[in-house]
Amino acid sequence: MKIVGIRLTPLSVLRSYHTIVAAPKRSIPPADAPPTRSFFGLLEAYADNGLLGLGEVSDVEQSDLDLDATRRKIEDVLLGADPFDLERLNGRLSLGNLVDCAVDSALYDLQGKALGVPAHAFVGGRYRDRVLVSWVVYIRRPDLVEQEMEEMVGRGFRAFKLKVGLDVDHDDACLEIMRAVGGPSAQIKLDASGNWAVDQAIANIRRLERHGLQGVETPTNPRDVAGMARVRQSVGVPIIEHVGRNLAYALDLIRQNAVDVFNVATVSSGGIFRAKKVLALAEAAGIHCLLGSTVELGVGTAAQLHLAASSAVVTYPSDLIGPAMYVDDYLSQPFAYEAGDLPVPTGPGLGVAVDPERLARLRMT
Ligand SMILES: [Mg+2]
Repeated sequence: MKIVGIRLTPLSVLRSYHTIVAAPKRSIPPADAPPTRSFFGLLEAYADNGLLGLGEVSDVEQSDLDLDATRRKIEDVLLGADPFDLERLNGRLSLGNLVDCAVDSALYDLQGKALGVPAHAFVGGRYRDRVLVSWVVYIRRPDLVEQEMEEMVGRGFRAFKLKVGLDVDHDDACLEIMRAVGGPSAQIKLDASGNWAVDQAIANIRRLERHGLQGVETPTNPRDVAGMARVRQSVGVPIIEHVGRNLAYALDLIRQNAVDVFNVATVSSGGIFRAKKVLALAEAAGIHCLLGSTVELGVGTAAQLHLAASSAVVTYPSDLIGPAMYVDDYLSQPFAYEAGDLPVPTGPGLGVAVDPERLARLRMT
């Protein structure tokens, strides 16, 4: 099997509300802030046997949507290549994590379709059938957090992540609401997006931990591993940090005992193949994992589900909220949550298909 053609289609879709995370000089958005618009590229890789491999360049900056240039770079790597040649192709892929992830997904999709097995069969098999998802609540007014929580608890979600880090009084108020609506058994983690200084992180986590926290992600600057380790030693809450394709960074976090949990994702590692290596390091170090997200549409979510399905070390709830955060999708059968879980696809390859009419709705002209 050889890849003979590439297509990359620009897409755009709205989120259900205006989503912000903590960063310097930001403030809590007003109630009438317009919903956030996200941009995507749908990658289609055609093989000489007639098979089609799907990949998704997920949630890119609009300014990075130079799809002609990106397509040409993908063609340089993929045209004439055998989709099973993962180690070699990954060695040639450095188009940024989001594009590399899309290519990796398309390769697994082709492999699976060629052999009639799901993508997870190549990376460990079906360890689990469903993936527990933590619904992510962004920084917004407390009355809106309450509404959102009531809706999502009503839909069966039982794990949550709250974006914090702009104003600890606000965070405290929102967390109180989340605990009240979610009940005592709800799993709740925080993500401060690195917006706290080390001492501030320690003080804020000590203040907020009375609400019962499953973990705190990126409490401080993620490049300051020693600082992160100091936060971890000073609080009684597990510390979570993003680990992408940089294995040396993962080793640094392990050596300095800086974290309890890795946030791993296909999108940040540049695909399933590379993410598996990060998960293996975590397993060796006795570190738990969750799957993070850049908030994917259907194909991106499918790739993440195959990774989670095949990885026992993913023990924390994962942030795969795209199917409920975007107001639309292009899949012929969009993902549906079952009591806060996503079912792992069972069909060949990624196990999903594109609906041409739905795709046309999202296509940018
Ligand atoms: Mg995060």
